[in-house]
Amino acid sequence: MTRDVDDQHVLAAVSTGRLPRFGRVEELLADAHARYRDDDSGVVADYIPALASADRALFGLSVVDVDGSVHVVGDADHEFSVQSISKAFVYALALEEHGHDAVREAVGVNATGLPFNSVMAVELNDGSPMNPMVNAGAIAVTALVPGASPAARWQYLHDGLSAFAGRPLALDVEVYESEAASNQRNRAIARLLESYGRLARDPLETTDLYTQQCALRVSARDLAVMGATLADGGINPVTHERVVDASVCRHVLAALAASGLYERSGEWLDDVGMPGKSGVSGGIVTVAPGKGALATYSAPLDDAGNSVRGVRATRFLSAELGLNLFASRPDATHDREDVR
Ligand code: GLN
Repeated sequence: MTRDVDDQHVLAAVSTGRLPRFGRVEELLADAHARYRDDDSGVVADYIPALASADRALFGLSVVDVDGSVHVVGDADHEFSVQSISKAFVYALALEEHGHDAVREAVGVNATGLPFNSVMAVELNDGSPMNPMVNAGAIAVTALVPGASPAARWQYLHDGLSAFAGRPLALDVEVYESEAASNQRNRAIARLLESYGRLARDPLETTDLYTQQCALRVSARDLAVMGATLADGGINPVTHERVVDASVCRHVLAALAASGLYERSGEWLDDVGMPGKSGVSGGIVTVAPGKGALATYSAPLDDAGNSVRGVRATRFLSAELGLNLFASRPDATHDREDVR
């Protein structure tokens, strides 16, 4: 596809403004936690057996400002496997490595409207994985990871996701082994992509690498730092390391806006007004470009696979922190006669 606006022009226009002051963010986070702590609706995922034992009472929230301030409340340091949220960050690494046009050509950015693990979506779209936030697209993105051996490719992913978090992330071996023994559907999706000539590497090796990336352990605090790196033009605001280019962040956030919350992405954008990504273990990260990121952890999910407390708390905080990207008020220079 030819593009009529070059990157330099797009980059000149950025989201501006700041998060509220430190103390106000602290108050609002505590308020959000108190409001939704006792909301016990939803079902903990069990299709990956090791996830079924999650404690449904745990609830953590974190906000990280692009100025490096970190806010946490509740169980924000409890670690859980990152699952689908890894898709956003591996996509970022692939964009950084191969450039936007090649990755978009290979994977796409349109929503499927179907569940994240749909096989039918691949069939209905002539073998296109459609977007990087569904399993087919994420597996196709993982197939683009550079490295001469499976170990080198894992090292690359592990280093890259750790740079986003600003600390070395650990693999949850129990979750990895549990998913590796029960991921026949993902292996089937990888085989199907292979049959369409859409997978750059061996399907089983790629599914295994994808399964490992999903089993990296993060906390809500880590997710907020990772999201804040996407909010900060690719610089981790806590470590000050440049992880990816600013243009990469823009493309990742666009893909999240289109399909970060599965089939609920439209409702999410309507209610929250920001790009976000959820995972089946109960995490959600939400990014306010140029301002910071918000992350939530709570295991019980709605029927689309999104954390119930997480969606509610994020909706509340987006409004209270003034983060909805679609909100505006009339320009202050209008005088009264001007406005009819
Ligand atoms: N590893 C999980 C899977 O592939 C991730 C899914 C998710 O978090 N939605 O099924």
